[in-house]
Amino acid sequence: MLLPTFEFHEPLSIEDALELKKRLGENAKLLAGGTDLLVHLKKKLVTTDNLISLTKIKELSLITEENNAIVIGACTTMAQLSSTPVIREKFKALKAGCDNLGTHLIRNRATIGGNACNASPAGDTLCALLVYDAMALLASSDKKREIPIAKFFTGPGKSCLQADEILTGFRLPIPGANSDAHYIQLGKRKSSEINVVNVASFLEYDPGTGKINTCRIALGSVAATPVRSSKAENFLLGQAPEEASFFATGEIARREDCRPIDDFRGTAGYRQAMVGVLTKRTLTTAYDRARGASQ
Ligand SMILES: Cc1cc2nc3c(=O)[nH]c(=O)nc-3n(C[C@H](O)[C@H](O)[C@H](O)COP(=O)(O)OP(=O)(O)OC[C@H]3O[C@@H](n4cnc5c(N)ncnc54)[C@H](O)[C@@H]3O)c2cc1C
Repeated sequence: MLLPTFEFHEPLSIEDALELKKRLGENAKLLAGGTDLLVHLKKKLVTTDNLISLTKIKELSLITEENNAIVIGACTTMAQLSSTPVIREKFKALKAGCDNLGTHLIRNRATIGGNACNASPAGDTLCALLVYDAMALLASSDKKREIPIAKFFTGPGKSCLQADEILTGFRLPIPGANSDAHYIQLGKRKSSEINVVNVASFLEYDPGTGKINTCRIALGSVAATPVRSSKAENFLLGQAPEEASFFATGEIARREDCRPIDDFRGTAGYRQAMVGVLTKRTLTTAYDRARGASQ
């Protein structure tokens, strides 16, 4: 399969990329690692006269810390994220998502911005972005805006990005003491496979009362977009961090917070059952990490 012909643009700054996007609008696609887009172009699922590569724009590949948050440039690759100390230490669910995505070759090219803009309900970094309460940073040549990641996805393969906008990155608050997270993906194979179900959980407990005071759970591959499991989250707040409450939370997530479909990867019933299992497991590991009992 050959790539179709197109005009290739390689701006060196965000400003130049935004000007190009404004001028070319829907008639241009943004290219990051190309691990989704080039496949879609070859298969003719997408057509375009212009490709605007973002890979020469240095500031889009940086991870910086500011005001107790990290800012991850949209073109940061999975391999880069996974080897960055602050991600390894403070954002373990995101690291797990990066490590589970594709193969070494893919992880060296695939970017976190591309994963979000591809907007697959099964995307491997998206549940982590949801549980770390990420803000998506969007820019056009006229204005910048920030939106909660939960509002970024609007359907399978769809996001709220406008035709003249670029996703420049994400801002994630650095998690505090007594908190941690975990991510598990379940596929037919261990890697390079579209997930059947994927779940991330984040929790924080109050060492005084011993009760859970913050909880965020995100479910992938069980709805049109990755989703927060809000009924399960509300149930767990104020509970003791113990096996029974983690099990009951998983049951609520399974029964009330997901709408999976049957497909050749798995039945809706199997996906639902696995939501319960993975929610309980991710909460258990997140709590063990938060109290220093596991890495
Ligand atoms: C063999 C293989 C295995 C894979 N395995 C997995 C897996 O296990 N898990 C998983 O989640 N995915 C997987 N993928 C899919 C893909 O690798 C990821 O979705 C990846 O993160 C896409 O990033 P990219 O930089 O390559 O995006 P690209 O292909 O460059 O772009 C993807 C889409 O996002 C848009 N885009 C990219 N960057 C921006 C931006 N900054 N602003 C606005 N729009 C933008 C592009 O226009 C395009 O529509 C796999 C792909 C392949 C080929």
